[in-house]
Amino acid sequence: MSTQDHALPQRQSPLGISVLIVGGGIAGLMAALELWRQGLDVQVIERSPARLTAGDGFTISHTAMRAFNKWPYLKQKNKEITWTAWIAWHNFKGERLTEPENMEFKATKDSDKEIYEETDGLSPELHRHSRPKFHLMLETQLEQVGIKVQYGHRAVRYFENPEKCTAGVELDNGKVLEADLVVAADGIGSHSTNITMGHEVRARSTGISIYRTAYSAEIVNSDPEIVEKFEMAPNGSPVIQLWIGEGLLATFSRNEFDMGWSITHKIAKGSSESWSKAVSVEDVFESIPEMNDWPDYARRVIELTPKDKLLDFELVWRDPQPIWTSSSGLIVQIGDAAHTFLPSSGNGANQGLEDAISLAKCLRIAGKKGSIPDATKVHNKLRLTVEKYGHNDKGVLNYTPRPKYLRMLMAPWTWKHDPEKYAEERYHEALCALKDGTPFQSTNTPPGHVFKPWTFESVIKAMQDGEDAGFDGEWEG
Ligand SMILES: Cc1cc2nc3c(=O)[nH]c(=O)nc-3n(C[C@H](O)[C@H](O)[C@H](O)COP(=O)(O)OP(=O)(O)OC[C@H]3O[C@@H](n4cnc5c(N)ncnc54)[C@H](O)[C@@H]3O)c2cc1C
Repeated sequence: MSTQDHALPQRQSPLGISVLIVGGGIAGLMAALELWRQGLDVQVIERSPARLTAGDGFTISHTAMRAFNKWPYLKQKNKEITWTAWIAWHNFKGERLTEPENMEFKATKDSDKEIYEETDGLSPELHRHSRPKFHLMLETQLEQVGIKVQYGHRAVRYFENPEKCTAGVELDNGKVLEADLVVAADGIGSHSTNITMGHEVRARSTGISIYRTAYSAEIVNSDPEIVEKFEMAPNGSPVIQLWIGEGLLATFSRNEFDMGWSITHKIAKGSSESWSKAVSVEDVFESIPEMNDWPDYARRVIELTPKDKLLDFELVWRDPQPIWTSSSGLIVQIGDAAHTFLPSSGNGANQGLEDAISLAKCLRIAGKKGSIPDATKVHNKLRLTVEKYGHNDKGVLNYTPRPKYLRMLMAPWTWKHDPEKYAEERYHEALCALKDGTPFQSTNTPPGHVFKPWTFESVIKAMQDGEDAGFDGEWEG
């Protein structure tokens, strides 16, 4: 079946609202699709001259994939490109510390099974995706609804004009673009924080960085030892091997399409928070001399990495941004522009997708131009309280197996969440809370968790003092 044969989803009646999306990454493309479906008129600008094909992989949860059921092409393509992962812990001799374990969601009640079924054929397991393939899938779907990303458009300044009920951006060539609503989906370091928070958000290095790549599995498939050592699980699923030792965490994963590896290490000369700045394999061996003692097959996986495919992505903390909208509500941030997640938390893409779904639904419920500020501010309120999850990556270089941390990724409160349904059910309550100050208790959190504003300083200090750092509640619940 060709991609052209797929039916498009039912589009809601037009609302006559124009939206300018800045950034054609994961959150921006999903926002374009969902806003189109909810009856808004969308254009997307992107600073890169052409589609970016860099990156390796990320985890996408059912909370976001559930939305693909409304999109016949996304639903089919997603099934083709996704893979489910088992996990095994190893030491740096390559010896197994724990047997491969299937990463299944915890089901607490019978009704959980119905939720799996709703997700239509996707097993209740951890799903991984190649970022380039996932991005291409979203962009292909967008082209099918007739929207083309406008490449080579770099926004340098956001502005709003409440009297005229418009907002816009200025591009680096001086051109100005305006719309009824501007969605800042321009990722880490977005210029939009100047207008939402009133200042740039300070970045602070964790002192840790990740060498990371994924390249064609064909490159290693002719090496029998690599194939044997990075074998599949009994049911044919790929196994992600987590190798741990003092000061380092490495991952290896071979699947049908790709060989991926990463090493989390102390920052080195080539480390930077960039998805495009490649480093060389020689840099890896130079900065981690311990690798001389690793088994030859593991070293070969690293040596076989194609030139220009290897990144050394520095992990950087930014304090949470409690406000994602401009004061008039005509500019709203989504994805990394609103909340930067450490890429080691396995959650950034997912949260960007959920933001897109939630924002589109809120605008649909608001239903008219004059209510855009209500919609963006309610969206902010509904989504903000999940934020701590992505930053809850306390022991990046913790030297022991951390099954508890992985189980948190599979907790019922995370995978059961449906951002569209949540917006539908709680929009009016959240709006009342905004207008009248009535209490609003989020249920999009670990059971028993009460969200309190926090900063990295406060969390680090609390942990140093041996106090509860505010991670109260049942994170595995
Ligand atoms: C090329 C690339 C590869 C990545 N690979 C991985 C990966 O392998 N694993 C992983 O976990 N995460 C990866 N990420 C990050 C991940 O996609 C995001 O953390 C997450 O999906 C949230 O998506 P986002 O749309 O908010 O941000 P992003 O996906 O980063 O998208 C932001 C987009 O905005 C564009 N942009 C930035 N500034 C401007 C501007 N001024 N004007 C116009 N456009 C602008 C960027 O070029 C980018 O396309 C990658 C990001 C990029 C850009």
